Order: sequence, then structure tokens, then C-alpha cells
Amino acid sequence: MTSLSGKTDIDWDAFTAALAPVETITEPVLIKKRSRDFFWYSPILNDALKRCFGDLVVRPKTTEELARTLAVAYAHDAPITIRGGGTGNYGQAVPMDGGLIVETTALNQVIEIGEGYVTAQAGALLADINAALAPHGAELAMFPSTQDIATIGGFVAGGSAGIGSVANGALRDPGNILSLTAMTVTDTPELRRFDGADALHIHHAWGLNGVIAEVTLRTVKRYDWVGGMATFDSYEDGYAAGYAIAQAETIHAKLLTTVDARICAYFPKLEGHIRAGKHLLVTMIRPHDVDPLRTLITQMGGHVDLMLTDEERAALKLPHVFDFSYNHTTLQVLKADRKATYQQVGCPIPPDAKAIADVRPHLGDDVWMHHEFARVGGEIVTFDLPIIWFQSPERLAEINITYEAHGFTVYDAHTWNVEGGGLKPDYTHLAWKKRMDPKGLLNAAKSRFWDDVKHLDPDEIEAKGHSNAG
Ligand SMILES: Cc1cc2nc3c(=O)[nH]c(=O)nc-3n(C[C@H](O)[C@H](O)[C@H](O)COP(=O)(O)OP(=O)(O)OC[C@H]3O[C@@H](n4cnc5c(N)ncnc54)[C@H](O)[C@@H]3O)c2cc1C
Repeated sequence: MTSLSGKTDIDWDAFTAALAPVETITEPVLIKKRSRDFFWYSPILNDALKRCFGDLVVRPKTTEELARTLAVAYAHDAPITIRGGGTGNYGQAVPMDGGLIVETTALNQVIEIGEGYVTAQAGALLADINAALAPHGAELAMFPSTQDIATIGGFVAGGSAGIGSVANGALRDPGNILSLTAMTVTDTPELRRFDGADALHIHHAWGLNGVIAEVTLRTVKRYDWVGGMATFDSYEDGYAAGYAIAQAETIHAKLLTTVDARICAYFPKLEGHIRAGKHLLVTMIRPHDVDPLRTLITQMGGHVDLMLTDEERAALKLPHVFDFSYNHTTLQVLKADRKATYQQVGCPIPPDAKAIADVRPHLGDDVWMHHEFARVGGEIVTFDLPIIWFQSPERLAEINITYEAHGFTVYDAHTWNVEGGGLKPDYTHLAWKKRMDPKGLLNAAKSRFWDDVKHLDPDEIEAKGHSNAG
């Protein structure tokens, strides 16, 4: 078998034979499919990554098979990309140097459910974990809107927050990732356990710093959440209402999202259910909080369009409210028009409707706001994930500058390297890459700094820390 990626000179037939009996996928069309994630949200990433393919897909079913796979890869110096559901947005699961794609979805057992925690294998789907938790009266503290196809390992390695974060914080907040075990890429792969804050060395490292085998996440009490949609004449009023709800002691929200009216025009499934031409506030709240929520929305100048239990929603054949939140909002628009893209923007803290109103006129008609409310480090924060009608990289840069000039922080969604997004800005995390993956086989090309430090030992990399990065 020749190299599909054109980037390796490994004998892939011999490699496949050495892996047996571990399941492999060799059909080029399937390998190409598994070489992609949702990077196409960004025209910039689409241009950069659409021709990057792996050479072979492996689907280990046990931890032993995973260890065998990594040992064979180590022996052949094969580049390795770990893949869960492939729903990441920045080409996180794209094999930059070709090589092996290790798909984790057959490692999918829920191992243990206890008071306040669940332990699952890395390839378990988040929706399956939530289903397993439900009879225990529990649910994950947060999950991404992609829970039906995203894995727990992919969420911890690539995600940051989700539905539930307005109550329970970001993944990186203390107590949310309780522990994980990750496998080394060495001659004899070993499992290493990372507890508490140590798990952050592997969290959001995009699969570069070890292969997550198991994760223990925090769980919380499960409620029969009520999904709401309220509409407002002005975007700022909807945003101010979102902030008021996030602060209200009588309302316990799991999701708070505001969406510009122009984006709502791309939600055909909500047609006739929400007022046309109005700005939207999406909510998920506990059942007992419906009355205070209705009162607050009315006081803040809004109109309650929908307030549904899950049974009522299903009877109306409406999607979950979270299908209009996080990057699903972007997806609704992209379904209709691939010229749309988005950005990730941190807003001034504490949330300030006036700051939102001030920047809006400067952004131009090609930027349509969409905010998520979350708690990070205990503080209520908001992120703008605006729809941007893409014109050129230059115009995108101009939009970023406009946001920054008004006190907002851009976490660039159009970068394919792990240091570009903001959570791993310097060399420090690469000390863990060196410890877990001394040959740098785990998709090293996704690190902007790996080549600078790969010759150093882990402690030297750690000492370098923040120093020369940037
Ligand atoms: C419509 C849409 C909505 C989204 N909403 C959210 C959201 O609400 N919150 C959020 O945080 N993200 C969100 N995302 C991004 C993404 O869905 C999540 O991060 C998701 O949890 C990724 O899981 P996955 O199994 O698809 O991971 P993949 O895309 O397969 O992988 C993600 C990264 O993790 C690495 N990885 C995967 N498994 C392992 C492992 N076992 N060990 C080491 N590394 C591994 C991969 O190499 C890759 O770098 C969204 C994306 C889309 C397209």
C-alpha cells in the first residue's frame, strides 16, 4: 500500500500486518473521511487542511489493543493522530503529517458511576454517558452540543465548555475534570494517571500530549430541564436579560444564549414558533424556575415565545434548544450558506450590555452577534461566537482589530495550531508532550513551538516556560 498522504515512506501493508488482529480501515475514501473534522467552518482552515490525509485508520477495542497500536507506531516512527467523533472545529483531528489515525470509538465503556462522578473510556459518546447517568438521577456537569457524536476523550482533549457551563464552569475549572489516564507513545506504552489540576496538562492539548484512555468527569443532579425561547426588540436588551438571569438567585440556568435576529432567519424549524425579526434569548432552566423566569423576561422588555418541557418539545417535533447554541448556531447558518464563518471573542467582564451596544455599529453588517453565557473561575462571563460573512483574511483581521480596540479578546478560530487558540499559549505544555511522546509522533505539526524545544529534556522545556514563546 503506497502512502495516501504522500508524506510517509512507511510500508503500510507491513504495518497493518504487524497490527493484526487490531481492526484497521484501509479504503482510501474512508481514510480521507476520517482525516477531516469541522475545520470547514473556516475558509482559511479549509484551504490549509483539506488536502491533509492519513495513511491508515486503526480502531482498537481494548486498552491492550491501544497499547499494541502505539507500540507498533513507535517502532515505525509513524505520525499518529487521535480521533474521537471528529467534531472539532480547528482541524484538531487532521493528520498534518499523514500516518496513522487512531479512532477511539470502539473504546466506549462507561466504567463506573459514583456520587458526583462518572468514569468512562475515551471513546464513549457523551450522549451515551448522559443516558447511563439518567437512571442515577445524574448528568454530566457540561456537554457540547455535539454530544450525540462527540466522545468524552475528544471533549477533554479538544473542547472547553458547553451546555451546563453557565452553572458549573468551564472544563478547566477545578473539580470538573476529576482525573484521566493517558497512554505514553513509547516502546512499551504505559498508562499514567493525572489527578485534579494535573489533568490540565492533557486537557485541550489537541491529542499532542498523550493518548487519553479513560476520563473521570464531575456529574451533577439531573433535572427535567425546561427549554425556553424569548424575543427582544433590541440585541442589548436580550443580552442584559441573559446577564440578569445568570445572576438571579431564583433561576438556575443550564444554558443562556443570545442570537442576533438576522441569524434567527436561518432557523426554519423555529418559524412560526418565535417572533420573526426579533433578537433571541435561548434558555434551559429547572422546572421550578419557570415563573420567575417569565417575570424577569417581561420586566426586561422581552416576550416569552416558547417554554417547553422535553415531552412538549418532542410532541411539537422541535429540536432541542441547545441546537441553537454554541457552534450549532453557526451550523444552522452554514447549512444554508457556506459563505458564513465565525469567530470566538471573549467579552468584557462582568458582562456589560453597553459594551455590546457600543461595539455593534463598528463591526459592520457582515458580523452578526451570538453570545454564550458561562461561568469561568466562578465569574459570569460571555463569549461572542458571531456569524461572519467571510470576504477575505484581511477583512477578518480588521474585524478582530475592531473587537480588540473595544476591549474584547479574540481567541482565533482560524488557526490550526494548538498555541493559537489561547489555552496553551507557551512552551509549558510541550514538557508533557516530551514526557508522554518523546519522539513527537502525536501530530507534532499542530504545535507552533515543538520544533523549538523537541531536542530539550522535559524539565528544560518546563524551565523555558513562557520565556521565548510568541
Ligand atoms: C456544531 C458543533 C458544536 C460544538 N459545540 C461545542 C461546545 O458546546 N463546546 C465545546 O467545547 N466544543 C464544541 N464543539 C467542538 C467539538 O465538538 C467538541 O470539542 C467535542 O467534544 C470534540 O469531541 P470529538 O470526539 O468529536 O473529538 P475529535 O474532534 O475527534 O478530537 C478533538 C481533539 O481531541 C483529540 N483527541 C480525541 N480523542 C483523544 C484521546 N482519546 N486522547 C487524546 N486526544 C484525543 C483529537 O486528536 C483532536 O485534537 C462543537 C463543534 C461543532 C461542530
